[in-house]
Amino acid sequence: MNPETIAAQAAHRIDGETGAVAPPIYLSTTFERDPDGEYSRGFVYSRVDNPNRRALEQCLALLEGGEAGRAEAAAFGSGSAATAAVFQALAPGDHVIAPDDCYHGTSKMLREIFAPWGLQASFVDMTDADSVRRSVLPNTRLIWVETPSNPLLKITDIAEMAEIAKSAGALCACDNTWASPMLQRPFELSADLVVHSTTKYLSGHEDVTGGAVVSREDSAFLQRVRLIQNLCGAVPSPFDCWLTLRGIRTLPARMPHHSANAGRLARFLQDNPRVSAVHYPGLPDHPGHDIAARQMSDFGGMLSFQVAGGRDAAMDVAARVRLFVRATSLGGTQSLIEHRASIEGPESPTPDDLLRVSVGLENVDDLIADLAQALS
Ligand code: PLP
Repeated sequence: MNPETIAAQAAHRIDGETGAVAPPIYLSTTFERDPDGEYSRGFVYSRVDNPNRRALEQCLALLEGGEAGRAEAAAFGSGSAATAAVFQALAPGDHVIAPDDCYHGTSKMLREIFAPWGLQASFVDMTDADSVRRSVLPNTRLIWVETPSNPLLKITDIAEMAEIAKSAGALCACDNTWASPMLQRPFELSADLVVHSTTKYLSGHEDVTGGAVVSREDSAFLQRVRLIQNLCGAVPSPFDCWLTLRGIRTLPARMPHHSANAGRLARFLQDNPRVSAVHYPGLPDHPGHDIAARQMSDFGGMLSFQVAGGRDAAMDVAARVRLFVRATSLGGTQSLIEHRASIEGPESPTPDDLLRVSVGLENVDDLIADLAQALS
């Protein structure tokens, strides 16, 4: 089945009792045991498994694909909880190679939570495969890829990273949040794991926090992630799963619209004299354009740009928008704009004059008009 069909019919099952077309929400925290003590209906306790969560996990596994449909997913209460589960599934003393530009929560998590726990991390420019190769150590167990990256939209060649990981005896995990499974399919490029913040494009409406780890196939590593999911308990609620599945149904319709709007906006910004740089992989002069064109089916709805005049000028542009919402996060229907360095904190490597934009589903002429007046 094609991803569009999987998404449009996410969790599709006609309720045998009522004929309901939309799935029910199973709020029950506990499930009845059979007289012989078995759980023949497959559910015991909602932290361990729940019908809505199982439906979401099955849908995410199908959407990401994986060898002969053997992918498996574990859903979490946030993208960060999913990321943490991957790091926790490693062992103290293991080494992780991570990008020098990625979601700041991921790099902060490695530095502040997992370094004291004994996980070693190197932060590398992943657009330079040789520097990744040079960073491999005998204890490297994971190469963490995020492409397009947050917030500089750097593009990493997933197949190349997967190959480096394989020859090092390590796993390659790809944070596919910004592209979504509609635009980028890391398993087809030999990644072993895909991680999502489902808070973003997958749910798509700025109303539910969630995350997932998807494995190309069942594996000892995935079993460890599941154990962490079960024992540490950072699981999404049944309603969160239901909302995420509802969002997924329109993902195939939303992603081309986000991409088309972002492409138009990027071209408009490129021609504006107050803009000193535009970071969008759909622009032919973006350094990762060729790789993005090869490994993505479209360039997505995220872009960032730098404002001539530095931090104050960038803050001033953000202050003047009328239609864009000044807010963090991304992937929803409404366009958001954000001064990224100030939310990432003083240690942030993000340029001070950079604004990140999550391009929504509004009419793009209205978005262009709003940025034009904010930049004027
Ligand atoms: N990965 C990426 C690429 C993100 O942009 C984010 C959040 O912005 C996360 C992970 C973390 O997701 P969550 O906020 O759901 O924990």
